[in-house]
Amino acid sequence: MEIRIKGLNKNYYSEGKKIEALFEVDLTIPANRIFTLLGPSGCGKTTLLRCIVGLEMPDAGEIAIGGEIVFSSSKNIYVPPEKRGLGMVFQTYAIWPHMNVFDNVAYPLQTRNESKEEIARKVEKTLHFVQLDGFGSRPATKLSGGQQQRVALARALVAEPKVILFDEPLSNLDAKLREETRKELRSFLTELGITAVYVTHDRIEALSLSDAVAVMKSGRIIEMGTPREIYFASDRRFVADFTGRANFIEGRVAADGDLFTMIDTAIGPIACEKKAAASPGKAATVCIRPEFIRVLKGDSKGGENIFRGRVESLVFVGDAYEGEIRVGETLLIFRIEPTTAVREGEEIALHFDPRHCSILLN
Ligand code: ATP
Repeated sequence: MEIRIKGLNKNYYSEGKKIEALFEVDLTIPANRIFTLLGPSGCGKTTLLRCIVGLEMPDAGEIAIGGEIVFSSSKNIYVPPEKRGLGMVFQTYAIWPHMNVFDNVAYPLQTRNESKEEIARKVEKTLHFVQLDGFGSRPATKLSGGQQQRVALARALVAEPKVILFDEPLSNLDAKLREETRKELRSFLTELGITAVYVTHDRIEALSLSDAVAVMKSGRIIEMGTPREIYFASDRRFVADFTGRANFIEGRVAADGDLFTMIDTAIGPIACEKKAAASPGKAATVCIRPEFIRVLKGDSKGGENIFRGRVESLVFVGDAYEGEIRVGETLLIFRIEPTTAVREGEEIALHFDPRHCSILLN
């Protein structure tokens, strides 16, 4: 089900000060996709999620779920959470420790007074779906973190919600388990074909899990797109910075060609992928991800986007070398194949592929 949000505002008041948690948020969350709200702590992600669920009362705006208006300040509509037909999975698993797995998952159905047989059928089906067959009688606390999170997911799914919302559900898991659970969750949600709204400040989680991502800053949605679009094609420094590691090199537009735009920078001219017409002299920032800095073999003579630098630091991280190269006064971060023969202190030639040099608005 599609979720449509228009002109949503939410303010909090604390110690006599107004906090604009959401400001004029307009957003359409596509039906049956995994949609993520990504942004730094305090940008309003949880507030937006809570407004969709109905746990928070916005000050103004409208929210419609599958065409039904569940909140409208102008039409005076407020549908309470239990009537919105949504499922929610929180950061803390919020499973009941005194109940076994079956009872935890059955709880939402018991509150609806469904028959015992019907409840048993639905719980078994859902436990099977989240790969917890045979765990029904296990005390909920005698499970691993990943399994507990699957119980929380089963409890949210058992009532067959129209939409499922997740508030940083993997943040209590260790790195390896988080990666596994993320993959699992993506495959569960894709198989279900349900609308999922996911909140995180973890860029890798957002990029790897989602069909679409909205980046938030200070109560506003500042960009929306597929993970590839927001990682590769954003022209906002905040988005480029928040979605991954990047080098930002300040400069000015030198010339605007058919395919590339030349930017004059402190390390020399850099040919960048052309996005829009740019007038010479205009300030611009070149963004290059560390994985797109290539080390050239042999003694390069120079050429377009070829620079010489000195390796200042080099760290072996298993699947790559990460380090810093000083080009003139500018320190660049890079990430190269773990088999590349480079040493700290070495003078090397680098190449930036113009297709991966993007121009940012400042
Ligand atoms: P995090 O990732 O840290 O959970 P978030 O992006 O989810 O952050 P919110 O929890 O939505 O951010 O908070 C948005 C802003 O509203 C913050 O400045 C926060 O301090 C403020 N805020 C949230 N809840 C309240 C409240 N109940 N009373 C006062 N201010 C609040």
